[in-house]
Amino acid sequence: MKQEKIILTGDRPTGKLHIGHYVGSLRRRVELQNSGLYDKIFIFEADGQALTDNIDNPEKVRQNVIEVALDYLACGIDPAKSTIFIQSQIPELCELTFYFMDLVTVSRLQRNPTVKTEIQMRNFETSIPVGFFTYPISQAADITAFKATTVPVGEDQEPMLEQAREIVRRFNHIYGETLVEPNILLPENAACLRLPGTDGKAKMSKSLGNCIYLSDSADEVEKKVKSMYTDPNHIKVTDPGQIEGNTVFTYLDAFSKPEHFERYLPEYQSLDELKAHYQRGGLGDMKVKKLLAAIMQEELEPIRNRRKEFEKDIPAVCEMLRQGCEVAREAAAQTLSEVRRAMKINYFDDDSFVAEQTARFAAE
Ligand code: ATP
Ligand code: MG
Repeated sequence: MKQEKIILTGDRPTGKLHIGHYVGSLRRRVELQNSGLYDKIFIFEADGQALTDNIDNPEKVRQNVIEVALDYLACGIDPAKSTIFIQSQIPELCELTFYFMDLVTVSRLQRNPTVKTEIQMRNFETSIPVGFFTYPISQAADITAFKATTVPVGEDQEPMLEQAREIVRRFNHIYGETLVEPNILLPENAACLRLPGTDGKAKMSKSLGNCIYLSDSADEVEKKVKSMYTDPNHIKVTDPGQIEGNTVFTYLDAFSKPEHFERYLPEYQSLDELKAHYQRGGLGDMKVKKLLAAIMQEELEPIRNRRKEFEKDIPAVCEMLRQGCEVAREAAAQTLSEVRRAMKINYFDDDSFVAEQTARFAAE
């Protein structure tokens, strides 16, 4: 049988989605969805994972389940083509995590660089919740329960994918060919691998409060762009400016297209020309920020408007999620039945266990 091409990817409902999610994964998902090249597409909200570091704040996760669903729909995820579901509604994922726990060592988990950074960021020090520490295992279950071949995500997810691949190899080696090794699909544009925050910090992240949200109003976007981190040594317009680490230029790398220059700054042919002028000196931050603001508004306005339309019918959004969970659960249940068979714990699937055990005792 030809292997199906299956996409799985998701987000934690810990806040509304931001432009880092958009360039890192969401924009790509919509393109892949509409390419027609994939047999199945699963997009999910990792609410169980969100609870691992928000266990005392269930209300936050509950509210954001709808916010994230609205962001998906606003960006063009189409429930007719992609199954959108919620992690906690698929108990098979917990079961698979439970089996996977035995295939990973504590020291292997401790080596995960993304988890290391996240632990520092959250000031957990020694009081790390076990669930948080082990979330890469649960994430491997999320991916493999759907036999995903392709996982479009940002660069911070690379260690998770590597962990998932190791688990699959180990599982298949012990129990026979059952699970599928997933491939990571990183953004092609280097600026999108890990979009920095508006404060210049390494990663735009809901938890750091340095985000431009997809649902921000035009005014908010304008204000956030105007107050963005640039080159702190570029004080006078005539000073030569630095591009590296200059967030405004990183965002231009992520968002600008040649036609934007024709439209908003016809005196420059391309981003390279603009960068060269900035480096030479004589180009003020405000002019570059104005260009970025115009480009951001052009990209975000249709998303914002579609979101407002979907907000008018929340029961329909809830129903879409409920149906998505049903479809996803069926797919995961199928894989779990194969997993149980491979692990020889499918005692009551048919009569073979009774027959084999009866024969064993009769022979004694
Ligand atoms: P949290 O702070 O709660 O972890 P987050 O902002 O890191 O939230 P996630 O839900 O963990 O968001 O990530 C969802 C997806 O978005 C992942 O594929 C991740 O790689 C991608 N992503 C998140 N932030 C960025 C970013 N700044 N640049 C590129 N991709 C990103
Ligand atoms: Mg994250």
